Amino acid sequence: MASKAMRRVREGEVPLDGGTAVQDDPGRPVFRGNGENDYVCAECANVLATGMNPEHMGKRVRIKCGRCRTVNIAAEVPVEMARRKR
Ligand SMILES: [Zn+2]
Repeated sequence: MASKAMRRVREGEVPLDGGTAVQDDPGRPVFRGNGENDYVCAECANVLATGMNPEHMGKRVRIKCGRCRTVNIAAEVPVEMARRKR
């Protein structure tokens, strides 16, 4: 299984929808699936989600690391690009 680092959510980067999953137990991934990748914290490399496919880890998914409290996002595309037009 591949291991992918997430990235830190930038200041002011607020996704349109979805929420932030909070990892209560640093030893247990928030999401478990049967996909191809593990997703790890950008800051401390703690495993936040396991067995996830990239399409499940889009810009709506944020995970707050249970170990270091960093809010991580998997999307490589900056969320500004998805911001709603006024
Ligand atoms: Zn962390």
